[in-house]
Amino acid sequence: MHRVTEHREDLSVVLRGSVAKFFVGAVIHWDRSVREAMDSINTPGFGVYIHIPFCRTKCNYCTFVIKPWRKDLAERYSRAVIQELDLFLSENEVSGVADTIYFGGGTPSLVPAEHIAALLSTCRRHFDVPQNCEISLEANPGTVTAEKAAAYRGCGITRISLGAQTFDERSLQAIGRDHTAGQVATSLALLREKGFENINVDLILGLPEQDEIQWAGNLEMVTQLEPPHISVYMLELEPKSPLYHLVARGVHRVPDEDAVSDWYLGALDHLPGHGYAQYEISNFALPGYECRHNLKYWQRRPVFGFGIGSHSFDGRARYANLAGMNAYLSRVEAGISPVEWRRVLDEKEELGETLFLGLRLRSGLNWEELSEGFGAEQVAEYEKTLRSMSNDGLVEWRDSSIRLTPRGMLLSNEVFQAFV
Ligand code: SF4
Repeated sequence: MHRVTEHREDLSVVLRGSVAKFFVGAVIHWDRSVREAMDSINTPGFGVYIHIPFCRTKCNYCTFVIKPWRKDLAERYSRAVIQELDLFLSENEVSGVADTIYFGGGTPSLVPAEHIAALLSTCRRHFDVPQNCEISLEANPGTVTAEKAAAYRGCGITRISLGAQTFDERSLQAIGRDHTAGQVATSLALLREKGFENINVDLILGLPEQDEIQWAGNLEMVTQLEPPHISVYMLELEPKSPLYHLVARGVHRVPDEDAVSDWYLGALDHLPGHGYAQYEISNFALPGYECRHNLKYWQRRPVFGFGIGSHSFDGRARYANLAGMNAYLSRVEAGISPVEWRRVLDEKEELGETLFLGLRLRSGLNWEELSEGFGAEQVAEYEKTLRSMSNDGLVEWRDSSIRLTPRGMLLSNEVFQAFV
């Protein structure tokens, strides 16, 4: 799923900005509690990402490579991912604990729960998976049944990320989602009934047919439902998407950028007013409900990805699997690694990543720690850039702490260009 935005929280997504290009001046309050809260989230181990590429239908804003749902193909695919996990462990030595596991898609909640259980038991067989491992699964509201929710709970899933996107039926139809707004609340209630309390709800800003009242209604609705985690992404209309052409032909109208900027800034006020602290450009959580898996991407911790098109980071190198289903299946079934490319990062790239991924977080960067870690000479190259961003109101620099201002968050894609 997503990104703009929605699910698919592997690296390719995390590296792309999700907040778009607008100018809005705003005042921010430096909140020490954010850094303290972030420091207290302990994610010492590595993460495991498992990609499930199937969707019932394709949303018209989506540019991801997805596969139409087919039971036989899904069965073969799950077997192949298990084979890939076996193969990976026969070729690599991994030390430490797998303290987060993430099923992203696609629509992982489409596949039978037994597949998820089998994949998880393979992870447990191969990795040291502690009791308190955060195990997330992305779900679309229309696909969650009582049986599935119970089975997820039974096999150890601890967190569900629900792709609501909006509570407005017209917008849902305009973007081709295969669920109704009502199903979001129903799915949430059902998941809670089966024992899930750690639930994320994804929303998208800037959708067709969205206006100020509708967006305010979305914020109102999501806070009434009280999931402990909320993600707010901005729609990025990609030329490859059908929606881009529908908008270009005037079939759908999207709200203008200034309005969307204002609504985003409004969310930065509204959500903390309901107890949700912003901990990343697009992510808000009640205390203790930050997504530990996604934090690994922003904090550059190792995450090993499995399945088609998944991305991995082993602490030094980034690499990615083949994105084509046939190529992936034939390689894995023949006992050959499906890795398509691998690249060891040099020190400059590591520093660049540390800067732009760290700036995504509200806890921001610590200049002293950066200088100690990379050497004063290396970081000095970026000091001028960051100072000038500070003068332009894009970043706030206090003592050793640097983080984006709300204006910097709105212009984050441009800000990050300075570090890549
Ligand atoms: S649910 Fe929609 S947005 Fe998500 S991967 Fe499937 S088609 Fe793309």
